[in-house]
Amino acid sequence: MSVPALKSTDYKSPVTPIWCPGCGHFAVLSAVTKALAYLGLPREQVALVSGIGCSSRLPAYVESYGFHGVHGRALAVAAGLKAAREDLTVLVAGGDGDGFSIGGNHLLHACRRNMDLTYIVMDNEVYGMTKGQASPTTAPEWRRSKLTPHGPGVRRFQPAAIALAAGASFIARGFSGDPSLLSRLLVQAIRHRGFSFLHVLSPCLTFRPDEKEWKQKVHPFADSPTSNAVEAARLIQADDGMSLGLIYAEDLPVWQPASECSASLADFEAEFRL
Ligand code: SF4
Ligand code: MG
Repeated sequence: MSVPALKSTDYKSPVTPIWCPGCGHFAVLSAVTKALAYLGLPREQVALVSGIGCSSRLPAYVESYGFHGVHGRALAVAAGLKAAREDLTVLVAGGDGDGFSIGGNHLLHACRRNMDLTYIVMDNEVYGMTKGQASPTTAPEWRRSKLTPHGPGVRRFQPAAIALAAGASFIARGFSGDPSLLSRLLVQAIRHRGFSFLHVLSPCLTFRPDEKEWKQKVHPFADSPTSNAVEAARLIQADDGMSLGLIYAEDLPVWQPASECSASLADFEAEFRL
């Protein structure tokens, strides 16, 4: 007897999102469930791992395995899970604060390791959950936070350029205000074998009402996507941060350790005995 195909609503959990009305993350949740349904992935074959922050609540809202974890450590947890369970489709979700500040070092090494993971970063250029502090992607002159009344005064973190330099094999940028592009990019990211970095412009209308203007500012990348890292670097350097689409995808060696460990616990104890 054939199993009926799942619809996107079948991937939505009974937990009601507590995001603010108008938050960009609703569109990301919808893109995730649509992409999973499109790919026909069984729910028990999918795991969503996150860190801490508004966007990191995503696993609770998806009917799959999920782990809402530790601030900035989502990629470390996801890499461990993928190392132990290669058969799972592992998605990682978080925000700009979680992924680019405290989790920045994990991002570099996840890119270079190129495990078969999909990392979705919902970037709203602010720490939303802790009420509006500047994050690594906040513009230097942004003055709305009481903690940085003169603006952070620091150049922004450049997610796509850093992911490319660190060795990610798939880099794309989506926007919550363009849900069909977002779903398509997510399908491509999941299908890509290797570390897929999906940077999503996802407005926080509560602490960054100015991000309503993103709808008028976004535009497609000037050039077609490439599988050449030098070409991708040129594309990213020419980007104003509001270009949308696939930037780069290349088949590079994927790191996947053997899931079986040949050493016993007694071997480890002997190795580390003082
Ligand atoms: Fe979304 Fe911002 Fe509200 Fe957090 S604070 S749920 S990021 S709108
Ligand atoms: Mg944020």
